[in-house]
Amino acid sequence: MPSWSVRERAQRSTTGAAVVSTRDSRGDEAGAAEAPAVRFVLASGNRHKTREFGTILAPFRVDAMPAGVELPPEGSESFAANARAKAEALARAAAADPALLTGLGLEPGGPVLYLADDSGLEVEALGWAPGVMSARYAGVDGPGADRANYERLLREMRGLVGPLGRRARFVCSVVAVTPAMTYHTASGQWWGAIAEAPRGEGGFGYDPVFVPEGSTLSVAEWPQAAKDRSSHRARAGRALIDVLRGEGLLHAEPGPRPG
Ligand code: IMP
Repeated sequence: MPSWSVRERAQRSTTGAAVVSTRDSRGDEAGAAEAPAVRFVLASGNRHKTREFGTILAPFRVDAMPAGVELPPEGSESFAANARAKAEALARAAAADPALLTGLGLEPGGPVLYLADDSGLEVEALGWAPGVMSARYAGVDGPGADRANYERLLREMRGLVGPLGRRARFVCSVVAVTPAMTYHTASGQWWGAIAEAPRGEGGFGYDPVFVPEGSTLSVAEWPQAAKDRSSHRARAGRALIDVLRGEGLLHAEPGPRPG
């Protein structure tokens, strides 16, 4: 078991760095030492997601997945099951090949959590479709996939009108797996409505057709920083920090909560 995952008592040093006093399984004081803050390694090849989680989980550092790790294909059971399968695959790969961690400047046995998410769009009037099929809704791969997906969605929703007919939410499940293979989960939802037509140039996926509750703009018309504060991923990420802190797995404070 990595030394940081036994019960830790956090203190703040005068410099603001986290200082951890570690107790072993007998409850003995094993000695206080400067410890690096927990770092996350994201089970995704998507650099955009690594940047987004880096912002959401700041000041915790989020590293991109090292090259050569094979992630399982996403299934259709649930967002949480998909996220857990990805995080566990990365944890197993790192256990089998410690060079993956040293390549990131992490000590094998050091304070690392393997992070993964799965997310998608759910439309109430479509029985919560496309859901876990969001990325593959139109069956198109490559650069045209996002557009094909939201165009199919708009076709399926022809005739559905009004706030209830067009009610939808983005959902995100996040999972953190420890090197000892215990896992911790959280989720976030972002409610809104599906627009009649795409608008805006920013974001990705269904952003041009999703209008968040309380806004008249599609997410593709929002500044990225505003999306980073409000999105389903942001909500799930903040909830995960609370879960991990409750489990005693973190010993550095996350950044200020956006209002
Ligand atoms: P994944 O979590 O990367 O597997 O995302 C699955 C799919 O859900 C993406 O390909 C998008 O179609 C959709 N999706 C997830 N999050 C967002 C978002 O923030 N904006 C727009 N579409 C999203």
